[in-house]
Formats: sequence, C-alpha cells, structure tokens
Amino acid sequence: MTADPVISNAAAPGAEYAETASAAYRAALQVIESVEPRIAAATRKELADQRDSLKLIASENYASPAVLLTMGSWFSDKYAEGTIGHRFYAGCQNVDTVEILAAEHARELFGAPYAYVQPHSGIDANLVAFWAILATRVEAPELAALGAKHVNDLSEADWEKLRNKLGNQRLLGMSLDAGGHLTHGFRPNISGKMFHQRSYGTDPNTGFLDYGAVADAAREFKPLIIVAGYSAYPRRVDFAKMREIADEVGATLMVDMAHFAGLVAGKVFTGDEDPVPHAHVTTTTTHKSLRGPRGGMVLAQPEYSDAVDKGCPMVLGGPLSHVMAAKAVALAEARQPAFQAYAQRVADNAQALADGFLKRDAQLVTGGTDNHIVLLDVTSFGLTGRQAESALLDAGIVTNRNSVPADPNGAWYTSGIRLGTPALTTRGFGADDFDRVADLIVDVLSNTEQQGTSKAKYTLADGTAERVHAASAELLAANPLYPGLTL
Ligand code: PLP
Repeated sequence: MTADPVISNAAAPGAEYAETASAAYRAALQVIESVEPRIAAATRKELADQRDSLKLIASENYASPAVLLTMGSWFSDKYAEGTIGHRFYAGCQNVDTVEILAAEHARELFGAPYAYVQPHSGIDANLVAFWAILATRVEAPELAALGAKHVNDLSEADWEKLRNKLGNQRLLGMSLDAGGHLTHGFRPNISGKMFHQRSYGTDPNTGFLDYGAVADAAREFKPLIIVAGYSAYPRRVDFAKMREIADEVGATLMVDMAHFAGLVAGKVFTGDEDPVPHAHVTTTTTHKSLRGPRGGMVLAQPEYSDAVDKGCPMVLGGPLSHVMAAKAVALAEARQPAFQAYAQRVADNAQALADGFLKRDAQLVTGGTDNHIVLLDVTSFGLTGRQAESALLDAGIVTNRNSVPADPNGAWYTSGIRLGTPALTTRGFGADDFDRVADLIVDVLSNTEQQGTSKAKYTLADGTAERVHAASAELLAANPLYPGLTL
C-alpha cells in the first residue's frame, strides 16, 4: 500500500512542493516565534505529537499542506457578510471569487444543484439547514397567506403568531446512542429545544437501522423534518428509502453527511447510498473524511436554495473567507481521481480493521462495518469506554469513547470505543497495517483491568504501554505523516 498521493506527492522528500511547503512553514514559524514563541513551540509540538500517534478518531484527518497553507492568508482579515455579489461591505471582489469557486467545486463534486460554503462548522451548517427549512415550509406560506412580502411587514400580533408556529415544529432524528449527532434533536442541544423532537433508534437485535420502525415513527409523529445521517453508526444508509418515508408523511428530508462526505465525494457511496440526490437538504463538515479545512457546507435542492443562501444573516455572521478559500482547494483535490482511490481505501481499511477484531473475538456493534467507522463494544473486556479510551491513550493510540445502543454505562462513561480509518489511510496505512492495529488494541484492552467498581479507574499491566508503543512506532515510521515536511 502506497501513501496517499495528495500527502505523499505533496510532501515526499525531494518533491518540489514538499521543499516549498517546508520553507513556508519554517518561515511562518520563525515569524510566529518572534511574537509569541510559546505558540510556535506548541505548533511544532502538535505536528510531532500527530506524527507519533496512532490517530483513530473517526472524525479527524490530515489535510494537505496546500489546504493548510491556504488558511493562513489575509482573507482572514476581510468582512464579507451577505452573498456572492451582494455583500454588506465594500471591497469583497476577491472573496466573491473564492466563494464562487468553492461553491462551483462543491456542486460539481457532489452533483448538487446548489451549494452554500459559508458555514463555519457542521453545527452551523445544520442550523442554516433547519432555519432554511422553517423559512421555506412555515414562514413563506404564512407570509403569503397574510399577503406580506417580508417578516418586517407583519403587525406585532401576526409576527407573534408566526414566531409561535416556527417554534412549534417537529423533528425526527437518529438517537444519540444509536449513533446520531447532538444536533439531530438531542435535548441539551439547541435542536432539541427549537423543535418538538422524537428519535429513531436501531434494531435492538442487529444494531442496524430499522426502516420499518423509522416509517412507523414518522407516520405517528408527522415531523416537518426527518434527519438522516450519523456520527457513530458503522453501516451505510439507504437514503432512497429515507426519502420515501419523508415523502409519505410530507416531511423534508435533511441528511447530515458530516462523517461520510468523503465516501460520497469519492464515489464509494453511490445510488441509493448517495444522499445528495435524495435529500431536500444535505449538510456536511469539510474536515472529516472529506479531508478539507475545519468548516461546514450546505447542499440543497432548488426549492430550498434561496432560503439556504440567507444563512447569513439568518444564523451566521461574516464568513471565514480564508477557510472558504481552503474549502475550494480541498474540494479541487477531492475532484481528482486519486481521491476516489483514497475513499475506497478508507472503506477497505475499515473492513480490515473490523475483520481484525472479529478474528480476535472482540465484539463489534452490528457485527462489522461497511463505512469508515468501527464501533467496538468493550464490555466483553470488562471495561467502560472511558477506561478503554484512557488505557489506549497510555499506549499511544488515540480514540474516543462512544455510547453503544441502549448503553448500560450512559453517555459519559459509555461502553464503546469509536474507531475510524480516514486519518491513518491518509498516512498510507493498508489492510495489513489495520489488522496489526486491531491486534494492538486487543493487546491493550486484554491487559487492562477495572479498579474495583470504578467506571474510570483502571490498571494497565506492566510492560503493555511500552510494548504497544514500540509496535505502533514501527507502523508510524513505515507510513510517515508529511514525510517531506522538515521544520
Ligand atoms: N454533524 C455530525 C454528524 C457530526 O459528526 C459532527 C461533528 O462531530 C457535526 C455535525 C458537528 O460538526 P462541527 O464540530 O464542525 O460543528
């Protein structure tokens, strides 16, 4: 297995791009050092730590030097509230160029009629989508019925009536412990406060999405919005079926593909598994499997595009123009054939990781994976997710604890460990490497013991951390991160 072309071509020793990128970073760090040396030191240390750890956090990746360098520009200094060509500030001609390009790449890459690239994060993208759906489905018909063009034209009494309607809508989303995200209606999140909320879960026997149960919940609850998508579900979703359910009950289908956007962009998820043609509105982050800068994006069918386009001022302030520029660069990378090869390897590697666990008798939620996530149930090791996460970190393996369906240990301690393949695949890890990773994780967890009845304290058997560190150092050395980048 060779290293990913974007990262290895970009940073391989001797490659012109790598030398240039190294020089750029060295110069940047010298400049930062002259103002606040502790930040320069922390920046160097972060690269060293990332190079030296087995990063299995499913929502993280390594962006290319081109993407990272794009963010460090004077676009950061420009206010550009508004939309392309219609800004509330003068002098936005270059931001317009950036936003036009980023949106064009997004539309082409995902085959979407419309793309909005301003959201600062995934949460912001979801907020834009929620309010765009409310504006289209609730506000616009109400204004039309009252013969008004704009909310500012309404009397106080009519405005109060509209506000009550906007605040009384229903949302059906995947429950947190089945793998849904906080923004899909979880009570402590604003989505759970804005909407009357109900969740669908997964089949208690198989852990798979039960479309019949989703349809039953939709028929009974009659939501305005059905949210599909997940943060910790290790399987593919049939979005054509989800759309059928939404259509039957008159709901808008919103898909949050934050986690798996890279697999959609890389054409691993096609047909019924590609959310973009099926959803009315699709939201995403750009920094997870899509391997771009930290940010969000909304794709929409034409009937929702005008409302989405008002993300600012609806819920957003000035766009992060330097990040929009980096989104354009990352999306240009994702349109290359090499990205499709990368995305396929992400899925193949997840399969290899799951197989590695299964052959060592570990328990996986749903018994495996067919996306980029493996959800390991650590109760068979006599541990909570919290203990497993900490013990793995002691051995240099970076993961995050995660609930499993109907989790007996709750959302804080949890019973699972979520693992993802996008980051290490970018480094060049292949199937054999991921089998070895499964071996190392099982080694750590088999040598970890719960202390008494504590859900947090544990003891790692002597020598385990050193043994696993040494083995992972070999894997990391064989698949270096930014190999040509010398600081
Ligand atoms: N949606 C999903 C499905 C996610 O997994 C996440 C992040 O974990 C988000 C939204 C939020 O993204 P952000 O952290 O960029 O706000």
